[in-house]
Amino acid sequence: MTLFHCSACGKAYVARPVYCRCGSQEFRAGEASGKGCVYSCTTLYAAAEKFEKDLPFQIAIIELDDGPRLTARISGRPVEIGDAVTHLHEQEGVHFFQAA
Ligand SMILES: [Zn+2]
Repeated sequence: MTLFHCSACGKAYVARPVYCRCGSQEFRAGEASGKGCVYSCTTLYAAAEKFEKDLPFQIAIIELDDGPRLTARISGRPVEIGDAVTHLHEQEGVHFFQAA
């Protein structure tokens, strides 16, 4: 998965921001390790029509080893807070992770 690093201070972002917190507007894209851990998670039993076929499924806030956090879907066995996870793929802007 791609992360955007501030050219001035090195801070990493999941989505390219207009400004870094340090004020810089220069970013370079780089490949992330795709490794992280579960910061928070919950199981959904209701979802938009498009995702009803997948119910129930977990969503989680993942803290990447590279620093930033993102909201993602969990594939495979359920995870708990603190579990190590790895990035699987991105589909229509949704990142999928699985237990490492
Ligand atoms: Zn910066």
